[in-house]
Amino acid sequence: MVYLAPRNFAQRVVQRLRDAGHEAFWAGGCVRDMLRGVRPKDYDVATSAQPQEVKKLFRRTLMVGAKFGVVVVLGPRTQVEVATFRCDVGYEDGRRPRKVVYSDARQDALRRDFTINGMFYDPLDDKLIDYVGGKKDLQAKIVRAIGQPRCRFAEDHLRMLRAVRFACTLGFAIETNTAKAIRSQAQKIERISAERIAEELLGILQSPSRAEGITLAAELDLLQVILPEVDYVQAAKRLKKLGRANSLAALACLLYDPAQTDQPSRAGKRARAICRRFKLSNHFVRQADWLLATASHLLAEHSAGREISLAQLKRMMASGSFDELLLLYRSIAPQRAYRQLRRWSRQIEPQAVSPKPLITGRDLLDMGVCPSPRLGACLTAAYEAQLNELVKTKAQARRFARDWLNRS
Ligand code: ATP
Ligand code: MG
Repeated sequence: MVYLAPRNFAQRVVQRLRDAGHEAFWAGGCVRDMLRGVRPKDYDVATSAQPQEVKKLFRRTLMVGAKFGVVVVLGPRTQVEVATFRCDVGYEDGRRPRKVVYSDARQDALRRDFTINGMFYDPLDDKLIDYVGGKKDLQAKIVRAIGQPRCRFAEDHLRMLRAVRFACTLGFAIETNTAKAIRSQAQKIERISAERIAEELLGILQSPSRAEGITLAAELDLLQVILPEVDYVQAAKRLKKLGRANSLAALACLLYDPAQTDQPSRAGKRARAICRRFKLSNHFVRQADWLLATASHLLAEHSAGREISLAQLKRMMASGSFDELLLLYRSIAPQRAYRQLRRWSRQIEPQAVSPKPLITGRDLLDMGVCPSPRLGACLTAAYEAQLNELVKTKAQARRFARDWLNRS
């Protein structure tokens, strides 16, 4: 199959819909990004064709959201969401519409959240279709709700947090009335599912402007509802120091609690509870827990004037999240402590981080040690000594094990 760039494929989809007599445009985020001169992450198409008609026109489709008028058209290593022009009616729970009614392009623009997200583009005639003043707001760098902000946020409360995410990731300001409307009903964000909140929150945390995003969420009274545990002034200060980091390091940085530095396991536990609340993956939860517990431990040791052992350092480096740990540590610890940790870690040869054990259970049995739980403990102690570079050869390891067994 020939490879088609996503943009070309999205253009072909529009072409085919148009050839069949339907209206079809690119819509939403891809138009916004194109006008900003940024390559769109993905392309969405809005059309007058109904799902069954769309399905007939393309060979490979997924009818995942056909009830809401959405068909996914699959292309070579790319896909496009094709959505029928619609208006959403009967929002009752502040989360999703009771039903969707097919409509025209204009109505479809008006149901969207922000003016910058409400534009269409015709890639065949190179024409912008802007019913909502999106282009002007994009140029002025403004996030403005389409229509009456109060009603739009009452319909779907998640839009309040989306406004912050777009302002943060695009570096835009939220228009005054839009911001007022958010502040007046910020409390309602608690009715939105934790997963959807987490998605937007992680979107904010991924952005290099995450400190501004968190501050904005707090100024609009949203953060206090979704993360009442966090002191946002301190959090923003830490996030400012974070630099280029992924969402894991950023979330750990946000959740760090200086009051729990002396109790690393509690620091990890609190983070774990919050991540669980947000239904993040187990892997993510474990990593966030480890990062916070380890960083808190490091800082506590530093403050007490103690040094961690070489073995401890190597174990941290072998964790798979050491880069994130360094970033987090830089944001919470004194410069000197961070530099010291970084310098020390750089002195360790990669092959010394998690070397093969010099002795194994087999060796101990060959030495005549009877199988018992002590055997495992002895191996752990021997490996610790190896990581600490107190034991460097197999013979030394054997001697270490014999002494250890005699002693304990
Ligand atoms: P991103 O680049 O972050 O994906 P996006 O604009 O594509 O941004 P999506 O969440 O993918 O955002 O949604 C696609 C489009 O659907 C938006 O541009 C907007 O027009 C519309 N939309 C999405 N969520 C909502 C919502 N909660 N209320 C109204 N319109 C929405
Ligand atoms: Mg999108």
